[in-house]
Amino acid sequence: MNTPAMRRSRQALPAADCEAILSAGTSGVLALSDSEGFPYSVPLSYLYQNGKIWFHCARSGYKLDLLRANPRASFCVIGQDKIVPAEYTTYYRSVIARGTIREITDEAQKIDLIRRLTRKYAPDEPNEAMEAEIRQYRDALCILELEVTQLTGKQNKRLVPAP
Ligand SMILES: Cc1cc2nc3c(=O)[nH]c(=O)nc-3n(C[C@H](O)[C@H](O)[C@H](O)COP(=O)(O)OP(=O)(O)OC[C@H]3O[C@@H](n4cnc5c(N)ncnc54)[C@H](O)[C@@H]3O)c2cc1C
Repeated sequence: MNTPAMRRSRQALPAADCEAILSAGTSGVLALSDSEGFPYSVPLSYLYQNGKIWFHCARSGYKLDLLRANPRASFCVIGQDKIVPAEYTTYYRSVIARGTIREITDEAQKIDLIRRLTRKYAPDEPNEAMEAEIRQYRDALCILELEVTQLTGKQNKRLVPAP
C-alpha cells in the first residue's frame, strides 16, 4: 500500500482519536474497485474493535462481487461535520481505514459477530428478542471483516490544540 504522508501533518489525529471515532461512529463509506479500477463507494453500518471492522450484508450484491475479485478496501467515517458559516468551513474530524476484506466462514464466529453488531445498534433490546431476530436472519447474512492495515485521521486546523 503506497499512500503519501498527510500534507498538513499538524491536523493529523493520533491513533487513539482515530479509534475513538471508529468506535463511536454508526456508519461509514466503503470504497472498492471494479476490474477497470473504477471506484464503488457504498455506505454501511459497521462494528470496530481492535484493528478490525466488521460489516453485515446480504449474501449477494455488487459489493460482494467486487470484493471477491479484489479484497482491497478503504473505509471512511466522519466523526464530526460542524458547519461554521462565518468561517466558510466545517470543523470536521474524519478517519480513513484501509486494508483487506475477507468473508467470515466459521459459523460460530459469524454468529458471535452478528450478536456484537446487533448489540452495538440495539443495546437495550431484550436478549430473547435479539436472539429470535438473529435466528431468523443469520442464514441470509454475510459477515465481512476488514483487517485495518493503515489508519489515518484528520481534523480541521481550528480543532488542533494550541502547542
Ligand atoms: C447509513 C446506511 C447504513 C447502511 N448499512 C448497511 C449495512 O450495514 N449492510 C448492508 O448490507 N447495507 C447497508 N446499507 C445499504 C447499502 O448502502 C447498500 O445499498 C446495500 O448494502 C447493497 O449494496 P450492493 O453493493 O450489494 O448493491 P446492489 O443491490 O448490488 O446494487 C448495486 C447498484 O445499486 C446502487 N446502490 C447500492 N446501494 C446504494 C446506496 N446506498 N445509495 C445509492 N446507490 C446505491 C449502486 O450504485 C449500484 O448501481 C446502508 C445504507 C446507509 C445509507
